[in-house]
Amino acid sequence: MFLTIHAATGVIIGQTTNNVTLAFFFGLIFHFVLDMIPHGDQALMRKDRMAKIRLIGSIATVDAVIMGIFLSFIFNRALGLHYLPIAASVVGSILPDFFVGLAELTNNKIKWLSKFQSFHAHLHHFPLFENFEPNLKTGIVMQAIILVFLTGLIL
Ligand SMILES: [Zn+2]
Repeated sequence: MFLTIHAATGVIIGQTTNNVTLAFFFGLIFHFVLDMIPHGDQALMRKDRMAKIRLIGSIATVDAVIMGIFLSFIFNRALGLHYLPIAASVVGSILPDFFVGLAELTNNKIKWLSKFQSFHAHLHHFPLFENFEPNLKTGIVMQAIILVFLTGLIL
């Protein structure tokens, strides 16, 4: 899923738990849960390393900017937020994709990052949704709808 979706989930988790440690770990766990839902990037994961770095790197850069705008919007609009647990949860929510990016950039030369990347990639092909693989455009539309829904829950 896009970083923005993970961050939005992180805001909800941080607001709900109000505990920094729990918020971080729930954010981390929900990252993996959300990534199990097909979201249009399975085909991207099968590309060769350099194509993946170029394409996913470009998408992740745009996504990170949108996430920053989203979080600024949320922090300016929503009242009574628990900022520290939210920050911890957002970090936990986006950390796995940071590690995956790092694994790609280091060409899987760091063993634990390589293992983590394999685990993360495995979740994207969760057997429950084996026959459902939306394309990137459908995945973007799906995630935009999810983001609107999550924003509604936050505000
Ligand atoms: Zn992920």
